[in-house]
Amino acid sequence: MHPTRILIVEDETHLAQGLFFNLQAEGYEVEIAPDGEAALAAIASRPKFDAIILDVMLPGKDGFSVARQLRQQQNYVPILMLTARGRTEDVLDGFAAGADDYLPKPFDLSVLLARLHGLLRRIAWHAPSSEQSEESPSRFEFAGRCIDFESLELTAPGKHVHLTLMEADFLHYLTQNPGRIVSRKELLDQVWHVREDTDTRAIDNFVVRLRRYIEDEPANPIYLKTVRGVGYRFSPRGEE
Ligand code: CA
Repeated sequence: MHPTRILIVEDETHLAQGLFFNLQAEGYEVEIAPDGEAALAAIASRPKFDAIILDVMLPGKDGFSVARQLRQQQNYVPILMLTARGRTEDVLDGFAAGADDYLPKPFDLSVLLARLHGLLRRIAWHAPSSEQSEESPSRFEFAGRCIDFESLELTAPGKHVHLTLMEADFLHYLTQNPGRIVSRKELLDQVWHVREDTDTRAIDNFVVRLRRYIEDEPANPIYLKTVRGVGYRFSPRGEE
């Protein structure tokens, strides 16, 4: 087993160094990149990182661009994004850019460690394994689509998509609640765990992404319908 490798992308030297020593003390192998370009270079040239702690506010290329670029390169390394407290839109932009989890600054080290462990555990849980769990089906199939929640892959006619953890969690929640109207507030609360007042249009943007994956005509959805003024309804059989 190789040591778990973590990349810290943060330009504030004190914070980066503090994290570096604390994560090292936890047994992780740690590197620091002071900006987005350095982060992308480190990711391209070194052995694989198991997770990235990515600050949003960086000189030059910001954290959103780094995440977006990695996902465009089909690099699905787990990303914990550090956002500014009170800027919920950062959280939502982060998820849209492909982040897997977020933590508002300033944070307690113990909270960061817990989130990092959680992320690494979820990745392990999602990773393909020979032992199929009986009680938590890892696949959901509907209308010729298949969502594999372990390998984080979605196939639909003519499409093969790799999902971020957050996309997979979002779809998992919908598939666990078929036919029921799910409000934007509920999605923010239950899937994104964002409890502050949030611009719920961010949910709408996320749904637009998911429709591109599962709908034949994303502009005229039949599986993931908007219920005006209320929220969304997922119908595995489709509805006109
Ligand atoms: Ca920063």
